[in-house]
Amino acid sequence: MGQVSKRQVQAILRRTATAAELRSSQDPNFLHSREWLQMRYRVLKKCNWCQLCGHKGSPDNPIQVDHIKPRSTHRHLALVESNLQVLCRDCNLGKSDRDSTDWRRDG
Ligand SMILES: [Zn+2]
Repeated sequence: MGQVSKRQVQAILRRTATAAELRSSQDPNFLHSREWLQMRYRVLKKCNWCQLCGHKGSPDNPIQVDHIKPRSTHRHLALVESNLQVLCRDCNLGKSDRDSTDWRRDG
């Protein structure tokens, strides 16, 4: 997967929407926490396209870091990298919190 430059990372972060990642507002501070932002950055640095449909993110359909097992029911996995996958907003909304399919693939 090669090295990602600083500029590329900045571009990735610009086209992702942190606020939209939070559908349930049980813990509104979580997505602004340093711990989450650092974890999110690490995940996006490794993979910055939707792992379901391959979309690379656009202003009307940004890519997001999704919790495979939702935070609402698996709070202890909120900051566990293996529970995170990258989805575009459309796929993420379609999936909803009731589905825990892991869409990650190798490479
Ligand atoms: Zn998608």
